[in-house]
Amino acid sequence: MSTPPRAVPYTVLADTAQLRRPDLDERAYRLIRLDHSGLTALVVSDPKTDKAAAALDVHVGHYQDPDDLPGLAHFAEHLSFMGTKKYPRENDYGDYLAKHGGHSNAFTSNSHTNYYFEVHADHLDGALDRFAQFFHAPLFSESCTDRELRAVDSENSKNLQVDLWRLSQLRKSLSDPNHPYHKFGTGNLDTLCTIPAQRGIDVRKALLDFHDKYYSANLMRVVVLGKDPLDTLTQWVVDRFAPVQSTNVPVPADAITAHPWDNKEHNYAGHLVRAKSVKDTKQLVLRWRFPAAYAHWRAKPDSYLSHLVGHEGQGSLLSLLKHKGWATDLSAGAEGVGHAFDFFSVTVVLTESGFAQWHDVVAAVYQYLAVLRQARPLPKWIHDELQVMADIRFRFQELGSVSSWASRMAGLMQKPQVPPELVLAASTLVLDWRPELIEQGLDALLTKDPLVMLTAPAFGESWVPSAKEKWYGTEYSVEKLDTARFDHWRAQTPDVALSLPAPNALLPKNLDVVRHTTKQPHPHLIKNTPLVRCWAQVDDTFFVPRASLAVRFKTPVINASPRHYVLTELLVEYVEDVLNEDSYNAHLAGLSSSISMGPDAVRISLYGFADNLDVLLLKMVDALLDPRKIAAVFDRLHRNKLRRLRNWDLEAPYQHAMFDLHVALEETVWSPTDRRAAIEIVTAADVASHARSWLASGLLVESYLLGNVPSDKYLTWMDAVVTRIQTAVPTILPLTPHQRTARRAVHLPVGNAVASRAVTHAQNVNSAVDWYVQVGPATDYKARVLAGLVVHLAREPAFNMLRTQRQLGYLVFTDVRRQANTVGVRVLVQSEYSPAHVEECIEAFWRDWGRDTLPKIAADEWARHVGVYVDGLLEKPKNLAQVSARMWGAVASDLYDFDSREQMAAIARGVGLAEVVAFVATHLAPSSPGRRKLAVHLVSQVPSKQVPDTDEARVDVTVAMPTVEIVDVVEWKSRQALLPTAMVKL
Ligand SMILES: [Zn+2]
Repeated sequence: MSTPPRAVPYTVLADTAQLRRPDLDERAYRLIRLDHSGLTALVVSDPKTDKAAAALDVHVGHYQDPDDLPGLAHFAEHLSFMGTKKYPRENDYGDYLAKHGGHSNAFTSNSHTNYYFEVHADHLDGALDRFAQFFHAPLFSESCTDRELRAVDSENSKNLQVDLWRLSQLRKSLSDPNHPYHKFGTGNLDTLCTIPAQRGIDVRKALLDFHDKYYSANLMRVVVLGKDPLDTLTQWVVDRFAPVQSTNVPVPADAITAHPWDNKEHNYAGHLVRAKSVKDTKQLVLRWRFPAAYAHWRAKPDSYLSHLVGHEGQGSLLSLLKHKGWATDLSAGAEGVGHAFDFFSVTVVLTESGFAQWHDVVAAVYQYLAVLRQARPLPKWIHDELQVMADIRFRFQELGSVSSWASRMAGLMQKPQVPPELVLAASTLVLDWRPELIEQGLDALLTKDPLVMLTAPAFGESWVPSAKEKWYGTEYSVEKLDTARFDHWRAQTPDVALSLPAPNALLPKNLDVVRHTTKQPHPHLIKNTPLVRCWAQVDDTFFVPRASLAVRFKTPVINASPRHYVLTELLVEYVEDVLNEDSYNAHLAGLSSSISMGPDAVRISLYGFADNLDVLLLKMVDALLDPRKIAAVFDRLHRNKLRRLRNWDLEAPYQHAMFDLHVALEETVWSPTDRRAAIEIVTAADVASHARSWLASGLLVESYLLGNVPSDKYLTWMDAVVTRIQTAVPTILPLTPHQRTARRAVHLPVGNAVASRAVTHAQNVNSAVDWYVQVGPATDYKARVLAGLVVHLAREPAFNMLRTQRQLGYLVFTDVRRQANTVGVRVLVQSEYSPAHVEECIEAFWRDWGRDTLPKIAADEWARHVGVYVDGLLEKPKNLAQVSARMWGAVASDLYDFDSREQMAAIARGVGLAEVVAFVATHLAPSSPGRRKLAVHLVSQVPSKQVPDTDEARVDVTVAMPTVEIVDVVEWKSRQALLPTAMVKL
């Protein structure tokens, strides 16, 4: 029997049975290559999935930007979305995805441009057809090119005051100006418009040339995942991507063989660079030239070294630095910046005294390197342990978002040496023991001088910056360090506290799974006393040897005053800090832990292999009840907290807008300023006495366990927790009914209110608007459904109008906003235009869309919209953690509405279009006499962009109700009512 000839011939490189796959993976795979173009695609069939996804990675990035057009690769990425020959409408793709429960994104890095989307599994084919056009028939239309340039410019201006971006570019600028690594990748109005115009460069033509040259099938990797059979999916992929031709252009990143530090004039190894940060973060970075790890994916030699230098357990460099009071954090690892070149960096977040003694910190790093030198030949058992951990991680890999997975896979598939059968496993598994490669890496760290970089907001009065980084304006100075100094550092012998880590005792041994076949969609209450409540739920779907446990200690004392609040914050940070060595080892062994707090509770969460979960839980509870080492670490925690509270002033304007809205709605919130004043005067003794008293004024211990642990065992753990509390605080009282009530928020008055203030950070060019209407209490499911449907319908058109058409700014979000017991609709925009203009644009959107577009939705289309919204509510959780987050949310809100999604879905199915039109007219439209609106304006201190004097740019909106300006938010709140909540009896 012969198979019929294929219209577009392709070769199957591997099928499911040949692939190394995770234990629990039930998907079917086919890795193919189109014969005529060389395009490689991984086709994945998962009949159980409710979401489909696709991704395409092109092996080109801003390293390939023409020298006179910085940002071109990134600009090409933006424009690919803006219309193709077959689908010329510029928001066609986004519109299609939004209508079918999907979304998309893309990013450009130094050597990759990566596009991805996800969509309801029934609509993969339509989305794929639109997606594939980007790569062979984009329009790059004149009008879009001009407008989308503003989005790129706004994206850049959002990053200008962010240290992460500033320092990354500074590192690039400290290298050979002729090396691609030196480039500025985001682009802005100057690099992509003004300057090219002066030089007579046709940017649109350059875009088309770039696309023709690099958007070549041989540089592309495609991943498509759907619920359809493998044959169907394969056919779609082949048909859709067949038109993408290959120019056989060689992988451009392979041609970059020089190291950015090769040019002696621009080699800053052995230099000290001081760079001024925007925020108060003091940091020391040692950066070495390092052998390229890219080709050695089987052995991952760099991960052996980063595992040791970046370790946080006993004997580690970080433990020593913390003990000395010099650091709060440390990370180490190779930066995969090129195929043929790498850096290895050790980054230390310094304390005040670590900053003052930074050379001692460098010496400590060298002392740890001396530990490694003395340990030569480097032991194999560490590799074995890394191998086992990687193996467990791969075998029990959990699913997450399908589009993120597809995007990541498409990028990983670019590695040319990975054999087809390892395509899923190559990035995780450690396959070979290559000690000589690790030794080479260690040699580099021991023998070559690193670049020493110090960052801080100030370096004393005598410091004069010698230069300003070109793109972000970061001020810095450079000086050559004495070779004698490096010799001194290299001659260090290890501090007695330093050692290699001991074998990790927390590696899970029991990986058996109990398969519960009876469905249990919601938790059961298995213990209920005035003091303790325990919820349990079995894993009936994923069958992983993991569990998720959350415990909250609910007490009204936390929010009683700013002082109570900050003392609790310090206590929480103490627990995290003092247990770091243990929790780090647990984390390496696949068990993560965290402790956090809100105004009404402190919460401990653990997630991972269930083996040692109780050990870590009880250690955390012990530390919380008895902070016996607080005196030793208080100073470091206290300064760190204070510094972070000060840094709040420099956060992005949109974050301040969100916070101000939060303050306006919540009954009582302690602002960073209140907390700063309170924390200034607390002592270690205060924290210790707080630990003894805070649980005594009314407490509920409530827990939720999901997963692979028998109920009786779980109850034993919780008994142990409660016994410890009762021993530490014998006078404990359960919560009174008043103390058990859920938090209630302000009921906005009818009308329009606006709260406006200046952006604190004087240099930030951005303003922000958080525009919010309140539609009811969270217990009103009907209101939540209507708000949800409106957002589902309006999100894409709002983005299209506010970002794509009006180009207000890069950040535009439309969402349902829930806070305490309230629900509302918000539009959040960060913009260089004035908040007044932004707000008018938002109002105009609701007016026009609510009046002209929404009512015209046809009946069949309406039914489909409702279907998509309902599917979103009932979307299957992808892993244990997602189930846990949903159910715990119902506990933490005190509403215990575990079935809220099902209830809302049932309501939504009965909602007609007329109801939604009426809802918009009542709650959102500017003409409404009954809406309850509050807008927060953060006004930049830099003069805002002028609105062009054209018909398209002008807005004119009439608002029915007068606008009330809120001058003093607390005074205003004192006059408002609170929304009702429901007290659930259990
Ligand atoms: Zn972008």
